[in-house]
Amino acid sequence: MTPDPPTLLGCSSVIFLLLGVHFILSELSGRRWSRVVWYAAPFLLASVSGLFFIFPTLLPGLWGLRVGALFMVMAYGAAWQAMRVMLGCQPQLLILLSACGASFMLSVLAGPTGLIHVISTGCRLGIIAAFHAFAARDLQKHVRIRTPARRSLLRLLRIYAGFHLLLMPFVLWMPAPLGAAPATVWAVTTYNFLAVIEVALFALAMIAIPWEQLAFRQEELILQDPLSGGSNRRAFQAWLGDDGKICAHEALLMVDIDHFKSINDAYGHAVGDQIIAAMGRVCTEILYPPTILFRVGGDEFVVVFQCGSLDEMLATAQRLRKAFSTETRMIGGATLSIGAALCSGRGIPRTELLAQADSALYTAKQAGRNRVVHAPWDDRTGPVQTVLHAGGTGHLPGKYS
Ligand code: GH3
Ligand code: MG
Repeated sequence: MTPDPPTLLGCSSVIFLLLGVHFILSELSGRRWSRVVWYAAPFLLASVSGLFFIFPTLLPGLWGLRVGALFMVMAYGAAWQAMRVMLGCQPQLLILLSACGASFMLSVLAGPTGLIHVISTGCRLGIIAAFHAFAARDLQKHVRIRTPARRSLLRLLRIYAGFHLLLMPFVLWMPAPLGAAPATVWAVTTYNFLAVIEVALFALAMIAIPWEQLAFRQEELILQDPLSGGSNRRAFQAWLGDDGKICAHEALLMVDIDHFKSINDAYGHAVGDQIIAAMGRVCTEILYPPTILFRVGGDEFVVVFQCGSLDEMLATAQRLRKAFSTETRMIGGATLSIGAALCSGRGIPRTELLAQADSALYTAKQAGRNRVVHAPWDDRTGPVQTVLHAGGTGHLPGKYS
């Protein structure tokens, strides 16, 4: 059975039209007025383009095909702009209009065959490839969150950019609409098939990406502590139960603000809140990713970071303690007590590391606060159960059991 190009083009035009109508209705019902035109434009323009290719005699001479090709280029350009609008960027009208104008002018100068016709077709393919490449660049640049729909759309845009670029050297020999040679049924069928696949996947991505971004942001908010900017207790519970083991060379600091209740009583809760926010700021400033800060209680935090040795862990903890004192000096002043524990190379359950740090924190509080105490450590065997050794404002004398 031989495919019938006008029927195929007719079916695709109806699909494009329906997608355009879908976007008009969905954007109007969501009262997103500014997006209606851009979201619907690529599909409606593609639909009109199909109409001119089915009935080129709607306009005299070559004008039907020229206008059909113009609408096709505009549809690709509008799809790029729709994606920019979805990403919250301004449409790049100047580039869109210049490229479409240049493509149309060349097609006006060209005849049905000849050198200018070949150049015009090659330019059209190049412009379509560029629109895809610009869209891929914008998507990569402006969507920070790597969701599955974003990945699929990026892949789609790159494949189609590459496909149109690949056609350019063969433009002289490829039948229209793939090139400048006279159209054949297989070329029209292939191009039409590829266009339908692209439009359908593009429409799905335009629907899925905003939802995925929203879901991701909501999950972030659910797991975030709004005061410190770190992760909250829910995230901490998930982290603890994650795999039961902690990676080798990870340090865990159990941090508690000293006499926080008295600070609240003396200066008010607003100042207390500022002190909690200061903890988040200090951690961001002095600890580098992939450090994780959890706020696990009112004035209690857990800091987890990669660490090669006991000395490194203690130095980091002391830096945190001192930086916090300096940062809060202007808002009443507050100090930290820190219990530190380092994971052995073998890896131990996270709950065990937490218990060690908690016990060290208790010792730090007992010993007078504003200090760092670490769970004892043996380089060969890892944590030692019997002795806790203190660091701090000075070196804590004595041993704690
Ligand atoms: P210690 O040195 O032994 O830790 O004494 P503390 O006063 O810090 O200990 P305690 O656990 O009794 O006090 C914690 C206080 O933290 C009690 C509560 O009012 C306060 N708090 C808890 N959440 C918040 C918050 O979100 N904002 C403010 N400003 N205060 C909070
Ligand atoms: Mg406290």
